[in-house]
Amino acid sequence: MKPFQKHFILQVNLRRLILFIALSGMSVIFVNSYFAFYDTQKKLLTDQFFKINLNYSLKLANTVETFFSSSQSQLSFSAQLLADNMKNADTLQKELERIRQIGHRFNSVSVIDKQGYIRAFSPLQPGVIDARLTSPSHAATVQANTFFISQPYVSLIGNLIVYISVPIHNAEGEQLGYVGGSIYLNNRNATNEFMNSQFDDDNYDTYVLNKDGTIIYHHDKSRIGQKIDDNSLKQMALLGNEGNFRLTDSQGATFLAGFAKVKRADWIILTLQTEQIVTQALNNVMIDVTKKSAPVLLITLFMITLLTIYIAKPLRMLGLAASRMDDPDVISKIRAVSSWYFEVEHLKRVILWGTILLHKRIGKLSSQAHTDPLTGLLNRRGLHENIEMSLLNNSVVSVIVIDIDHFKNVNDTYGHDVGDEVIKMLGRHLKTNSCKTDLVCRTGGEEFLMLLPGIDIHLAVVIAERLRKNVAEMSFPICQHITISIGVTSFLPKEVPIDAALKTADNALYRAKKAGRNKVIVQDIPEDLAMMLHKQQND
Ligand code: GH3
Ligand code: MG
Ligand code: MG
Repeated sequence: MKPFQKHFILQVNLRRLILFIALSGMSVIFVNSYFAFYDTQKKLLTDQFFKINLNYSLKLANTVETFFSSSQSQLSFSAQLLADNMKNADTLQKELERIRQIGHRFNSVSVIDKQGYIRAFSPLQPGVIDARLTSPSHAATVQANTFFISQPYVSLIGNLIVYISVPIHNAEGEQLGYVGGSIYLNNRNATNEFMNSQFDDDNYDTYVLNKDGTIIYHHDKSRIGQKIDDNSLKQMALLGNEGNFRLTDSQGATFLAGFAKVKRADWIILTLQTEQIVTQALNNVMIDVTKKSAPVLLITLFMITLLTIYIAKPLRMLGLAASRMDDPDVISKIRAVSSWYFEVEHLKRVILWGTILLHKRIGKLSSQAHTDPLTGLLNRRGLHENIEMSLLNNSVVSVIVIDIDHFKNVNDTYGHDVGDEVIKMLGRHLKTNSCKTDLVCRTGGEEFLMLLPGIDIHLAVVIAERLRKNVAEMSFPICQHITISIGVTSFLPKEVPIDAALKTADNALYRAKKAGRNKVIVQDIPEDLAMMLHKQQND
């Protein structure tokens, strides 16, 4: 194993985890709904523009239909009138002037006879009367023999013209010719402003198409005469009299198209809107939505963060408290954690229960390890655990070591149980004759030790002698009497190590045994004390 290994631990805590989950969830919902909204809005706006274009085309188609229908009525009325006056140039001319003046519908009006001779023309121009038309357009008009709208054509002086005509019949129903009016499609200054006034709305990009796709009217005059692409024409053919489709121009730009057919003339009114307009409108809507939802979003974020802290805090506190089990205040610290929701309350109770149990166990184990089970006194380990406290703050400490004399004999004579009873009784006696601050312990089989803090050697000897005497006089069960030998010493904890002091006391005890037992021996005894002891023990 490497002597030093770096561990990269991902710093994940509950607060960050909850925050991460909440924010991820929120982001997914937000992004999802944002895009869903975007999609719906886009579809809505596209449909709306499609509808607008279709409606506009329908409206114009309807207007053009009405225009043709009223033109037909007007021309039909005149045709009846003119039938009887085909030879009367003046009357013809007057009627044409009247037609042209009413409604300013036509740029020019003419009466043509069946053979193609121009019988009257308004506005009157020199050399026109009696000129003969031989164009296929004339033939087609005669052939139609009913209300007829010509294909757009370019006149001699360069005007793009549509010619509307009604046949003139005599009383027998024979066709004499026709009366018709022309509309200049690409001439703004022409008397007839019909197309310009109807189709020149800046908000709409409108085309009037011939059935073969030729642009016969557009506000950009340069487009007139051009053809739209075949694909768009096919799409419109498929859709019937009206409808919507997407048109792509030669530059690849897409348009939302709405069209309607003018049935009477086989024309198509086509209105286009570039698809960019949808994107622009959509962007505006989305910016608006973002602006409006931003404060709510921020407040939600703030609330989530607060809530996260609020949820994680008690768990963090519990974790912190539980990580310091050796802290004496750990239980009250765990109790102080505010548990405002079920899981934490439950966890808190479990941790409290566990901690209390653990503390009890530890307490019990330590008292078991430090106590002698027979006498209930401290054992050797207990003595060492507690000795430091006893030495603290004391200038002098005395040690008394006790050993029962010839205890082997007690066991041999009366049995081990009797011996045990003797040990127990002696232990009780030592305990009851000691102070609270004294340490009384059973250091071995029938050996005891007393540590007397604050007691000097004189007092210690008095206590030891009294003990020896009392024990010798006590009556024990079955074996009746025993004697004890005692070693005594005193020391200054600051100067003498405790182990050395205990050894000195043991030496004193050894000497007491040697001296014949039932004696108190003080190691390194002052002379006056030796005298006193000698006197007492020989009394
Ligand atoms: P002396 O101390 O006076 O020299 O003689 P002794 O007979 O007491 O000798 P020693 O101290 O060497 O013997 C201790 C005896 O104590 C040995 C053992 O049988 C007995 N003993 C030790 N522990 C126990 C105990 O827990 N219960 C009983 N009944 N006897 C014990
Ligand atoms: Mg012994
Ligand atoms: Mg003994």
